[in-house]
Amino acid sequence: MDQSGVTTQTPKSPWGSAAPAAPACSLSEVMSEQLAKQLDEENAVFPALSDPAAELLLADEAPDTASDLMLAQMLQMQFDREFDDQLRREEKKFNGDSKVSISFENYRMVHPYDDSDSSEDEVDWQDTRHDPYRADKPQTTPRKGFTGKGKNITTKHDEVTCGRKNTARMDNFAPEVHVGDGLGMDLKLSNQVFNSLKRHCYSEQRRSARLHEKKEHSTAEQAVDPRTRLLMYKMVNAGVLENINGCISTGKESVVFHADGGSLEEQPVPDEVVLKVFKTTLNEFKNRDRYIKDDYRFKDRFSKLNPRKIIRLWAEKEMHNLGRMKKAEIPCPEVVLLKKHILVMSFIGKDHVPAPKLKDAMLNSEDLKNAYYQVLHMMQQLYQECNLVHADLSEYNMLWHEGKVWLIDVSQSVEPTHPHGLEFLFRDCRNVSTFFQKRGVSEAMSTYDLFNAVTGLNIPVGAKDEAEFMAEIMALEKRNEDHIQKRGKKTFPVTSEDGGPPLEPDADD
Ligand code: ADP
Ligand code: MG
Repeated sequence: MDQSGVTTQTPKSPWGSAAPAAPACSLSEVMSEQLAKQLDEENAVFPALSDPAAELLLADEAPDTASDLMLAQMLQMQFDREFDDQLRREEKKFNGDSKVSISFENYRMVHPYDDSDSSEDEVDWQDTRHDPYRADKPQTTPRKGFTGKGKNITTKHDEVTCGRKNTARMDNFAPEVHVGDGLGMDLKLSNQVFNSLKRHCYSEQRRSARLHEKKEHSTAEQAVDPRTRLLMYKMVNAGVLENINGCISTGKESVVFHADGGSLEEQPVPDEVVLKVFKTTLNEFKNRDRYIKDDYRFKDRFSKLNPRKIIRLWAEKEMHNLGRMKKAEIPCPEVVLLKKHILVMSFIGKDHVPAPKLKDAMLNSEDLKNAYYQVLHMMQQLYQECNLVHADLSEYNMLWHEGKVWLIDVSQSVEPTHPHGLEFLFRDCRNVSTFFQKRGVSEAMSTYDLFNAVTGLNIPVGAKDEAEFMAEIMALEKRNEDHIQKRGKKTFPVTSEDGGPPLEPDADD
């Protein structure tokens, strides 16, 4: 070895030459790098999912994991589903082929409204759980009411027999009641004690059912399922909304939230907006099928859709109808954005206070008269310019704001040529006439006159006989239907024989 060479250079380590040291790296950097890698891997897992949540994540853009909150939500949803799958497997294993099965339903994380696809293989606990107060086997005391002979007679009232029997019957209490090994200890419960235990057990069960119900209810009020919440977070995350403040209304079909508007690239977002979330529980909408099923604009699509998509159709329908109304300059919310079953639109009200419904507004007689003429005019515009019938018009769906009546809630509105369009209109007219007449507006027309004034039809009203009037309306609807069938056309001028403005189909569909 050449010693001299070594001495002139840095002394060589007896352990071999050291590689150049890596630049110093702080612990926090190492940690964040690790975290980033981990998050990366977790993100990569999502696209592989084949369930509806994955569909949601993939629907529009790549999963947005910028927000910790959203990331946490995604992970939580995934975790919940896996947990439920495992629970379902355990439930199956536990029950086996047994006729009496136990359900783990209450322990599930994701509740059926969110998981409709997999609900078929679930056990309905209401049906399968046995009645805790009905003994599994019939009691064996013979009809005569005693056993044994002579001195050894024991009646069904015998204290010891009865006590043991009561102990055994405790087994039939609800599973969450811990009864211990009474039989092993040869415990004898008097009727009095048993009955009071039974009462306690029963009231506990009811209490827990109530609690459960309350919990479910509060989740509904928080609005909705995790899927919807995630969509809402996404809107905040994308900056369309600044903040979602709170719930204005929870109806059967929708939940309405107040939110602060953010910004959208192509259009301005008002400072205050509402989110109308169409409920994804389908029960209520089923009753309303006819509003959409027979609406030719949606007819073809309706038959091909699954229920969740039908809910989206409602939101879409409200958007289209509001669009037509805006064109006719009818005061109504302005649509900002439609995202699946969530419709974002301008807020009617000020500083977080929604405008009152017409039924709650404190109006003097002058205002009332004014409001009446506005409503009359709006109904005419709606029919003649927008080619629409509101179909749920009443003092509940009109707001009073800045001295004007605003029309809302038009998801169910249909065209007059809808097979029941004129009947819906008649109902609207009745609601309007009744409301204003009751409030003392002497100018308010009768339902019949209002109907004619809106439609331009001249159905005779002399007899003031509702049945007759309705018969006329239905005859018109029938004629219209026949006409459509014959011509294969969508529209038909809904006018009387003696003329009136024919209705043109709207261009926006
Ligand atoms: P539903 O079908 O549940 O009746 P609505 O569209 O009528 O739905 O909305 C329910 C309630 O929410 C309304 O009565 C009204 O008080 C409030 N609301 C709905 N839209 C708006 C809006 N754009 N601005 C202010 N309040 C609104
Ligand atoms: Mg309403």
